[in-house]
Amino acid sequence: MNHTRAQSLAVMGVEVWLRRDVAERVNSTNNALDPAEFAAEVAGCTRCGLHKERTQTVFGVGDLDANLLIIGEAPGAEEDRVGEPFVGRAGKLLNSMLRAIGLSREQVYIANMLKCRPPGNRDPSVEEVAQCAAFLDRQIDMIKPSLILAVGRIAAQNILQQTTPIGKMRGQRYTYGEKQTPLIVTYHPAYLLRSPREKRKAWADLMLAKQLLGDSML
Ligand code: SF4
Repeated sequence: MNHTRAQSLAVMGVEVWLRRDVAERVNSTNNALDPAEFAAEVAGCTRCGLHKERTQTVFGVGDLDANLLIIGEAPGAEEDRVGEPFVGRAGKLLNSMLRAIGLSREQVYIANMLKCRPPGNRDPSVEEVAQCAAFLDRQIDMIKPSLILAVGRIAAQNILQQTTPIGKMRGQRYTYGEKQTPLIVTYHPAYLLRSPREKRKAWADLMLAKQLLGDSML
């Protein structure tokens, strides 16, 4: 955690929560790794204020044995309604991006950093991200991906705990967590719909993903 983020969390009293989350994770490892029980636990979560306005939690979708884990920011209106991440136009573009490297939506796992929709699609707060972080960590433990693709600025900056602009993060190779899972960054498909000229860069990011996945894609 960088200094600025640690200070922000401390000011908001979030650091205590983070430590408690880590303890909970350690104490409930067996339950955490049962997908159905885990999803039910998330569905009942009231840790942060986002639970008040959600239609439902959006846990994630795809192959639990996937080599590629895609992580976005948080559910939007359509995801909140349907209960699945990356649906609608952005979801269709993500599916096309995956097809371009020979993968179907069913062959990867897709999740969001936050499981509940921020009202009005606002950016999630530091506290909300912190409260939900343990769930994401547990999903990563459950799936054990060969590669994580962080999609969009909010997801990339929060997962890597950096403030670097996304344009400078893409093309770099990072690792995540104690297991040092390889992680790369690309633009969010919703951004690509607004800025189609950037699709060329997203294509390059996907080619990097394909290269890093290597034999695990066969
Ligand atoms: Fe719980 Fe995460 Fe939803 Fe907040 S966003 S209520 S921490 S599941």
